[in-house]
Amino acid sequence: MSDVIAAERTNWAGNVTYRAAGLARPTSVSELQELVRTTPRLTALGSTHSFNEIADTDALQVSLIDMPPVLEIDTARRVVRVAAGMTHAQVAAGLEARGWALGNLASLPHISTAGAVATGTHGSGTRNPSLAQAVVGLDVVRASGAVSSVGSDSAAGQLDAHRVALGALGVVTAVELAIVPTFQVATTVHLDLPWDAVEEHFDAVMSDAYSVSMFTSFDDRGARQVWTKHRVDEPAPSVDLEALGARRATEAVHPGENDAASVTEQGGVPGPWSERLPHFRSTFSPSTGAEIQAEYLVPAEFAVPALRALRPLAGLFAPLLIAAEVRTVAPDTAWLAPSSERQSVGIHFTFRRDAPAVAAAVLRIEEALEPFDPRPHWGKVSAGTPARLHEAYPHLAAFAALARELDPEGRFRNPFLDRVLS
Ligand SMILES: Cc1cc2nc3c(=O)[nH]c(=O)nc-3n(C[C@H](O)[C@H](O)[C@H](O)COP(=O)(O)OP(=O)(O)OC[C@H]3O[C@@H](n4cnc5c(N)ncnc54)[C@H](O)[C@@H]3O)c2cc1C
Repeated sequence: MSDVIAAERTNWAGNVTYRAAGLARPTSVSELQELVRTTPRLTALGSTHSFNEIADTDALQVSLIDMPPVLEIDTARRVVRVAAGMTHAQVAAGLEARGWALGNLASLPHISTAGAVATGTHGSGTRNPSLAQAVVGLDVVRASGAVSSVGSDSAAGQLDAHRVALGALGVVTAVELAIVPTFQVATTVHLDLPWDAVEEHFDAVMSDAYSVSMFTSFDDRGARQVWTKHRVDEPAPSVDLEALGARRATEAVHPGENDAASVTEQGGVPGPWSERLPHFRSTFSPSTGAEIQAEYLVPAEFAVPALRALRPLAGLFAPLLIAAEVRTVAPDTAWLAPSSERQSVGIHFTFRRDAPAVAAAVLRIEEALEPFDPRPHWGKVSAGTPARLHEAYPHLAAFAALARELDPEGRFRNPFLDRVLS
């Protein structure tokens, strides 16, 4: 096994300095099993893209980055089995090369599969649930060191409990995901859709293509960018955004402040799903990482009033907000998915990396969204107390009980889980 690395390390954004005593990087499942058996407390680390302490610990972190990649396609079952530490980019490239696809992807292709699944990471699309919903099976190293396979034939509720597991039920080594034949997508961007049009036509715009995102600063510009990702084998989008007051972008745009060279191709040019569904190219970093993200998923019927409630905060946001993105997510069956059992709209914020100012803004956002039953994203910052989280996530108590049953000594507990599962 590679040595435990003890140097000071941070998450990708640099807003969390890990308190972990070290990082272990086993090179095989058997090494990982031995590590789990002999370590009193450890936390799985994915690609470090979360913005809170969910992947941190006061004990040992374990990364699967040195485990061999696996990408096995079962065409009869329409399932791909991948090593848990592989990134979206690696999985997407492997699938596309063989004529297959995932139903949807998050904006960033650098994220690990297990980390995305563990936190309910999602893209956009009224018919597209989170990646966790595509999981049909996973292998987990339990606290005893034994490997357990969870799938649709497991006891009732087990798979749904394991889809979004926050690292609490064991270290996932392999994930089986449902796949579909590859498809082509074309991204068209419109600028400055006025608020009146956003409010009046929200559902029509957001469901007009396979995956639609609106970007806003909550100021008078309304939705300053609308990204329409159209599957070319489906009917063309029918909402005329120009008639509603928007302009079609004539050159590539970045949703934040960075060079448009880092975004996936726009301008309505068809290309494979793997190079259109993420917003950012895998060969570029989308930004310097000097940012902090927050996101809340509300029931779809509250989308318009929730956006209206946030508009008075535009002045507060102005010096701090790089971009806010509005997306739709289809219902998940995962117990802890932010989109669990409800058609959802995600309201996401990318802030400058000014932690005290972000903490203050997040409180104001949570106050404004309170009437709309918001669920915070597990991998982003939020102010929610455990009591609030239990209200937002009705299955949280059952999940906490399962975590105690499967990990009675708290081998996979960390301070984040101690707080959230209390
Ligand atoms: C630039 C950027 C863009 C983003 N875009 C999106 C987006 O479009 N949509 C969205 O929903 N989110 C988005 N996110 C958030 C991101 O998807 C989540 O924070 C996700 O958890 C990051 O995965 P990771 O591998 O970095 O996980 P980490 O931050 O390393 O870990 C997150 C959790 O996963 C657990 N975990 C990791 N590996 C394993 C394993 N092998 N077994 C068990 N548990 C494991 C950890 O223990 C922890 O609980 C974005 C983040 C960034 C930085």
